Amino acid sequence: MAPLFLMLAATVTVNTGGVAALPLPAGAVDVRYGDEPALIVADHVIVGVGLNAAPGRHHVVVRTTNGEETIDFEVVAKAYPEQRLTIPDTRKVNPLPEDMERIARESKLQRAAYARRTPVRADLLPFKQPVQGIYSSPFGLRRFLNDQPRSPHSGLDIAAATGTPIAAPAPATVALTGDFFFSGNVVLLDHGGGLVTMYGHLDRIDVEEGQDLDRDDVIGTVGATGRVTGPHLHWTISIQGDRVDPIILMEAFDELAAETVGTAD
Ligand SMILES: [Zn+2]
Repeated sequence: MAPLFLMLAATVTVNTGGVAALPLPAGAVDVRYGDEPALIVADHVIVGVGLNAAPGRHHVVVRTTNGEETIDFEVVAKAYPEQRLTIPDTRKVNPLPEDMERIARESKLQRAAYARRTPVRADLLPFKQPVQGIYSSPFGLRRFLNDQPRSPHSGLDIAAATGTPIAAPAPATVALTGDFFFSGNVVLLDHGGGLVTMYGHLDRIDVEEGQDLDRDDVIGTVGATGRVTGPHLHWTISIQGDRVDPIILMEAFDELAAETVGTAD
């Protein structure tokens, strides 16, 4: 049996809203987190831990050619700060009864796009930030809009001038486009393997549903449509339906890309 300090050192800790990149054992044929096949990138299982995940021990189940094993990790509840915003268009905070049908319809379309499960794209790395700019609102903030509690911030806001091009971070299929009540002009991309990314408040949309994209293809431009206080890109990343911090995912993917360099045949 391994000494206790080694066993403790081997346990990966992940914050709620974070990402774990866990090396896969040799001969893995099926990898699951919860009920779903997990996202596999560069021989690692990429687990997205939602903001509402239960703190404590979680595990990935790996079926190999030799049997079944589990990879354990520890989820820790992260205390995200509060953010209080004033939205001048009060209808975007307290929608009118006639807005509710539209909001429900758009919410259903987005849920379906986040629920897409297609084969993971072979070349997700490098996974690039779609636009450069100031991080104006981080992921996970507990939000109060016009002093009323709302859902936590599900993405990362990147401030940039209206008209700045937004590039696909990696190959994808366009899962959904639309002009939505809260998100304004919106694009959702399916990268396969349960990895879905969303781009909100666009000034212009340059892609169509079903279109296949390469890394760096322009999907549209930064704008201030929907519920905003100024021009920015709202960028959401979802893994198997769980929203995670885009900065954490980019860091995890950067590390994998660095490991992969030089090991190719
Ligand atoms: Zn946002």
